[in-house]
Amino acid sequence: MCGPAAGCGCTRIPALISLATVWGSLHNKRGSSGWAREILRFPRPGGNRTHFDPVMDSISSRIAKVSPSLTLAVTAQAKAMIAKGEEVYALAGGEPEVDTPDFIKEAAIQALREGRTKYTPAGGIPELREALAAKFLIDNNLQYAPNQICVTGGAKMACFNAILAVVEEGDEVIIPTPYWVSYPEMVRLAGGIPVLVETKESTGWKMTPEQFEEAMTPATKMVIINSPGNPTGAVYTAEELRALGEIALGEDIVILSDEIYEKLVYGEAKHVSIASLSEDLYNLTITVNGFSKAYSMTGWRLGYTAAPKPLADAIDKIQNHTISNANTFSQYGALAALTGDQSFIENLRGEYDVRRQFVFSRLKAISNIRVVEPQGAFYFFVYTGQMGLKSMNLCDKLLSRYKVAAVPGIAFGYDEGLRLSYCTTLDILHEGLTRFEQFCREH
Ligand code: PMP
Repeated sequence: MCGPAAGCGCTRIPALISLATVWGSLHNKRGSSGWAREILRFPRPGGNRTHFDPVMDSISSRIAKVSPSLTLAVTAQAKAMIAKGEEVYALAGGEPEVDTPDFIKEAAIQALREGRTKYTPAGGIPELREALAAKFLIDNNLQYAPNQICVTGGAKMACFNAILAVVEEGDEVIIPTPYWVSYPEMVRLAGGIPVLVETKESTGWKMTPEQFEEAMTPATKMVIINSPGNPTGAVYTAEELRALGEIALGEDIVILSDEIYEKLVYGEAKHVSIASLSEDLYNLTITVNGFSKAYSMTGWRLGYTAAPKPLADAIDKIQNHTISNANTFSQYGALAALTGDQSFIENLRGEYDVRRQFVFSRLKAISNIRVVEPQGAFYFFVYTGQMGLKSMNLCDKLLSRYKVAAVPGIAFGYDEGLRLSYCTTLDILHEGLTRFEQFCREH
């Protein structure tokens, strides 16, 4: 077996090439005229180029502005190394490692057997929307009618639907950084402009009201709040949300509240839905949630939005003409998830809390990094600025020489850090952290 310090020439090179290639393509794509045009530097007949590729040239500028997901790329790279027989300690994942509970699977199988294999209403089956309305009331103190709820293809699509329903060409959307990878790209896809607000460790990686106010312009249309947050695990308190909400209300800025990690909060932290804080905030907020994390259903692709009726109707229209409806038998599984035994969630949360504390104790002891204790989700965002390495370079070395997969901070808009996930077994965490400690000592 390759020792972490020894490094292994045969595996180091492919890893370096692969991550660097992804990064290179991101850079190309950031070019002002789009990656297709960057790559094809030859002038077009009749224009200023002599050669063009009709396929490459046909890609819309909307897509050319967008980067691929670096988190998915790192995970794919780690999986490819594992498939080749290499020992990789994957701390880069974004999904619970346990399987979906059997009773949820059984409900979907039963639905298939009963022939529930056709289209459903665009917003989802009525029973599921009713169950979600009940969930909102019990868990979040939010009163939504079933027709204000739209079930869709994962929380990812729920976020995109929300952005598409609100953001117009040139509208600005405020996004606290480090951010979940897809927000800025979704905003660009909708023709909007992401306005990134760099948060600090000293405020627990949370955007302050002052920062929010400073970032606002007359073009601001939306703000995205993700609590508990990916990649930092930050959880906003009710007071913090109220303060941000007041500012949003002052300028009628729509709030996209992504609450996908709602069930994974630890210690004293409590999850609060910003829409529940006042009627005015309710009227300005689109709440996003989903089944992926709480019920370990990432592959089922089920998320949902809840919004004031006019916004809900706009989202319904998007569904009508895009996905039609979320997968039918998945919806029956989700219905069972919501209405069945909830002990799975508490067991998962308890287990992750143990891992969180274990990882925190190990990371705290490393002298040349800094870390804030996360209160939610299943990630640590580690500040690595003292090492003087850019995050891509750092993660390349960590993966190729020490066999630990982590996600470079640049994926989240913050280059002096990396994300470590603890949604994996304690054994993997143990060995992965031993190697990470060694890496830190040697850099
Ligand atoms: N929001 C956040 C903050 C996430 O981390 C993720 C998944 N990584 C999503 C939304 C998307 O979730 P889903 O898999 O349900 O599309």
